[in-house]
Amino acid sequence: MFPVHRPRRLRRHPQLRRMVQENVLTRADLIYPLFAVPGDRIAKEVSSMPGVYQLSVDKIVEEAKEVYDLGIPAVILFGIPEDKDTDATGAWHDCGIVQKATEAVKAAVPELMVIVDTCLCEYTDHGHCGYLQTGDLAGRVLNDPTLELLKKTAVSQANAGADIIAPSGMMDGFVQAIRAGLDAANFEEIPILSYAAKYASAYYGPFRDAAESAPQFGDRRTYQMDPANSREALKEIELDLAEGADMLMVKPALAYMDIIWQVKQASNLPVAAYNVSGEYSMVKAAALNGWVDEEKVVLETLMSFKRSGADLILTYHAKDAARWLGA
Ligand SMILES: [Zn+2]
Repeated sequence: MFPVHRPRRLRRHPQLRRMVQENVLTRADLIYPLFAVPGDRIAKEVSSMPGVYQLSVDKIVEEAKEVYDLGIPAVILFGIPEDKDTDATGAWHDCGIVQKATEAVKAAVPELMVIVDTCLCEYTDHGHCGYLQTGDLAGRVLNDPTLELLKKTAVSQANAGADIIAPSGMMDGFVQAIRAGLDAANFEEIPILSYAAKYASAYYGPFRDAAESAPQFGDRRTYQMDPANSREALKEIELDLAEGADMLMVKPALAYMDIIWQVKQASNLPVAAYNVSGEYSMVKAAALNGWVDEEKVVLETLMSFKRSGADLILTYHAKDAARWLGA
């Protein structure tokens, strides 16, 4: 041991540190989330997420060009429809807001990968991720009828030109149902990025302002996972693998890096980490107060996701991070 071994020898010089660096963060690791709203020339900042906007389709296109020019390979689209109803019509209608945004982005920036969030909570009047039971058990989210809606939604998104379908509602069997729906519609080449381990997290708060998708009653703990559980995440991964998922996501990221690590060990698929709204807003608030160095904190956080095993990172910091990382 000491004095023979001196780990500081390899930290002596910047080039030497560069040579022995174990993980690398690049712009190609990043995915930028965008929120589409109806209308024209609209860019409305989300109050709890400084620097994040609800954008009309024309503005989404401008943003997509900027994202692509920054070297970021993909965006993920969320939609805020004109009207919400019990059937989540806005989610699966061919003239839905996300379908329109997808078509416009693919026409303007064909090389940018468009990932589309496939869920119903932004489109239902009650804000839950599926069909609700009526009558005595009113309020319960029905699993199997919801799968039919998700199938329809994914096919219409693929029709609009989506490159990757990303189901997020944590319904049992949703990967299999969506795969079957896509295949039947001749979209067997469209991959599924499953929100495989999605926790019922308080870190989603600001997103619900952005997507106007807060549940009108109750919470999502009957379908999203309990933050106390990690073995259950491995079970979810196993099922999604068997159902045909092409990529797996862990959400949130910062408080769940042990899960990212375990998911990485448990599968050979690419793993995505969703650096969620609450994680973003905490850093932004501290940075705006001058309490932390935003650039350093963000890049350190994103690097830590890579170290944990993430291949891809969905983050609201993506544009800033791409600028800081450079070419
Ligand atoms: Zn949902």
